[in-house]
Amino acid sequence: MAQPRMLILGAPGAGKGTQSAKITDEFDIDHVTTGDALRANKEMDISEMDTEYDTPREYMDQGELVPDEVVNAIVDEALSQADGFVLDGYPRNLEQADELEDMTDLDLALYLDVSEEELVHRLTGRRLDPETGDIYHVEYNPPEDPEVEDRLEQREDDTEETVKERLRVFRENTEPVIDHYEDEGSLERVDGEQAPEDVWEDVKKTIENTD
Ligand code: AMP
Repeated sequence: MAQPRMLILGAPGAGKGTQSAKITDEFDIDHVTTGDALRANKEMDISEMDTEYDTPREYMDQGELVPDEVVNAIVDEALSQADGFVLDGYPRNLEQADELEDMTDLDLALYLDVSEEELVHRLTGRRLDPETGDIYHVEYNPPEDPEVEDRLEQREDDTEETVKERLRVFRENTEPVIDHYEDEGSLERVDGEQAPEDVWEDVKKTIENTD
């Protein structure tokens, strides 16, 4: 498939960001990620939208979903400028999936399957280098340079309490989205618990075999 229009679905910590970066490189398409877009606009004033909180940050810090109206607008704008794309972190509920159907056609929805125990372990151990943006893990992938190690930060929503809430929100809101694409016949599952290079091999093959 030359320039796929695709979703990458999976729980928080399933590896969507890592695999999306490889997909965008290999297939020369846009990476549209609602999580990054919202992190870059955390303090945006959304009070006019009649929402519970006035900024995305308040939802994100608690592991809750940012209101659909805010997220749908971000995706609509990004997709209008893309030929091919990998959409990462959206749709996260059935209402968003409905909205997406009005915005574009999809070639495939790829689901990275990882057990909950492994997700908690990955997320609570995840650390970010604020200077380079590189991602490490305290156990699986610690930095060699002690200077880098000293400056590592934890994402505010990667604490154990918020991780548990994000996984609950995933089970409640996003699992029905996965069932929806499965029922529709467009879902492809990949075992996301393998080493990142092996996950990538399966992801690449799956995209190449989609017609
Ligand atoms: P992520 O980086 O994809 O794990 O997203 C981090 C946080 O951003 C989530 O916990 C939500 O608060 C918010 N967020 C990201 N994508 C969406 C979405 N599609 N709908 C609602 N909230 C979202």
